[in-house]
Amino acid sequence: MNQLFDGVIPETQAPWPSRDGLRITRVRPIVTAPEGVPLVVVRVDTSEPGLYGLGCATFTQRFHSVAETVEKHVAPMLIGRHPADIEDITRMVHLSSYWRGGPVLNNALSGVDQALWDIAGKRAGMPVYELLGGRVRAAAALYLHASGASIEETLERARQIMATGVTHVRVQVGQPGLGSYGAPGVGGAYPGHPHPDGWDVQHYLRTTPELFARARAELGEEVRLLHDVHHRLTVKQAIGLARRLEPFRLFFLEDPIPLELYDRLPELREAAPMPIAVGEQAGSVADAARLVSRGGVDILRLHVSAIGGLTPARKLVALCELTGVGTAWHAPADVSPVGAAANVALDVTTPAFAIQEGHVYNDATHEVFPGTLAPRDGYLYPHDAPGWGVDLDETAAAEHPPATHLFERWAATVRRPDGGIEAP
Ligand code: MG
Repeated sequence: MNQLFDGVIPETQAPWPSRDGLRITRVRPIVTAPEGVPLVVVRVDTSEPGLYGLGCATFTQRFHSVAETVEKHVAPMLIGRHPADIEDITRMVHLSSYWRGGPVLNNALSGVDQALWDIAGKRAGMPVYELLGGRVRAAAALYLHASGASIEETLERARQIMATGVTHVRVQVGQPGLGSYGAPGVGGAYPGHPHPDGWDVQHYLRTTPELFARARAELGEEVRLLHDVHHRLTVKQAIGLARRLEPFRLFFLEDPIPLELYDRLPELREAAPMPIAVGEQAGSVADAARLVSRGGVDILRLHVSAIGGLTPARKLVALCELTGVGTAWHAPADVSPVGAAANVALDVTTPAFAIQEGHVYNDATHEVFPGTLAPRDGYLYPHDAPGWGVDLDETAAAEHPPATHLFERWAATVRRPDGGIEAP
């Protein structure tokens, strides 16, 4: 440390001579919310006119922090570096903060990392999936979300999704009060309680098997059904729910318990009859690796930008391949189309792939991000264009500024009927 403060600090310089003189000239975050959800993308420009890359750095709940980190801390380290030195640059950014990891720093890192892969693809004239060793499948099968205020509404939505060729459907049904995760509730369901719009765990545990009994009976035997608990149960409650859901043959049960209880995932996994999918809250590559190496997951779900981007994700993919764990990357509305393209590049290049969470982006998102992937008959096909094949129209992006305090205000309302806070 003393060395740093004793002398004049030189500008960041390349640690070895450049082969061709190419260098990074500018690094900046772009925040846009064409669907209301703040998306953060990092753009890395180079000394070659027209050669730039885009990377997903989307952490919707703390997007200001990520943008500041990119601009104030990460960008100064990259100017002058060769964009092909991805491993060295990402290790340098990761190690440089001394206290490492966490979703803010990792999303900033991911924005840079994925932008460098985009540049590498554009330089090579190849889609990123070819740089990763080429495809092992033509496309990634996806699942979509069917949610409703009632079981009837949820099943109707599931039928609409299945009619588009999608064979994997996540079903969630609303609850009194707050609703379950991903499905609307009925307000004022607990009059006389401190928090009439609360979420009652016992009601959820009683009605979720009913939802799946109806789903299996009415949607048929072939559809793959999935469910996201969203980390609201104790270990015993989760085991009880998993056992009651056994007859309905879930493709996976997602996030049954909170992050703080992950040490008990092997116990839960042992007792649960269906695959357990966990990982979207992992905020470091080391945490994600421990989930796999300690036998905590059947299917690893990562918010790829939250663990630092494509470069660390590739290493976890290799670990999954070697240990028989599947992959199912997190990708609802709070992953940018650039991040979604990176997910698909991983999906089509690994035998560990299990399923891809999908999202049908609105028209405004397609306008902001030309090249946004759209499902076709239940699959996401990667672009053949060099890099990710996804661009960003900054004029269109500027027309969709993020709302202020959206998540902060909503999270404060997520409570049980007695007023106690609940995981949003
Ligand atoms: Mg989830």
